[in-house]
Amino acid sequence: MNIEVINGVMVFIIGLVFGSFYNVVAYRVPNNMSIVFPASHCPKCNHKLKFYELIPVLSYIFLGGKCKVCKERISIFYPFFELLTGVLFLLAYLVFGFSFKFLIALIFISILIIVSISDIKYYIIPDEVLIVGSISIIVVYIINSLVNDISLFNGVLMPILNGAASFALLYLFKFFGDLLFQKESMGGGDIKLLFVIGLTLGFDMAIVDIFIAAFMALPFSVISLIKNNNNILPFGPYLSLAAAIILLTNLNLDMILNFFIA
Ligand SMILES: [Zn+2]
Repeated sequence: MNIEVINGVMVFIIGLVFGSFYNVVAYRVPNNMSIVFPASHCPKCNHKLKFYELIPVLSYIFLGGKCKVCKERISIFYPFFELLTGVLFLLAYLVFGFSFKFLIALIFISILIIVSISDIKYYIIPDEVLIVGSISIIVVYIINSLVNDISLFNGVLMPILNGAASFALLYLFKFFGDLLFQKESMGGGDIKLLFVIGLTLGFDMAIVDIFIAAFMALPFSVISLIKNNNNILPFGPYLSLAAAIILLTNLNLDMILNFFIA
């Protein structure tokens, strides 16, 4: 078999397994629970999951989406985010091959996945995930700069400044948004997430990210406003989805300008 295919399948399976772990992290960190103990169990009957009930995606299918003991329904979220992590890891491999960019992409995708799950479930973007993720990305930037003889200014400091500028920009948006709507227009977690997005994609693409996210969120915000008479909705998943699209399409400012000029 072609080595590319073998690598792709491997990366996909590793993505599924990591996705399964990210589900655990995203549910436990916002609740200040350990990510190691206790072992995975059914939240209703406390049945401790056996190894064959912990296989990403497949266990969900074999168990028919129910706990084996008490038949409580298992959220479709679990297999969905396992599969999504696998697919995004695979796409990152297809786009970047085995490279420093690939490593950055995997860390970035991991942050986006965990943050999205936590934000959907608890309206929380956990600081711990952003901090550990940012430090991991910066460490890879440092190693990349040393290995490929890039100056630390260009290879490390510039991305950090890009992150800081992106954070500051969304902070301003929130400031004026709060004034305009006379209420909290955006969560603090979204603003901190923009640091990681700017750190990875650059300041210009972080701006594009905000606009794509807002564009995608708008119809759902209107529906929520009509149905529930509120427009509180987690913005993190939209920022994350837009960021994943920008990352994996290698979208840059030239492509956007060419599209509108040509
Ligand atoms: Zn159960």
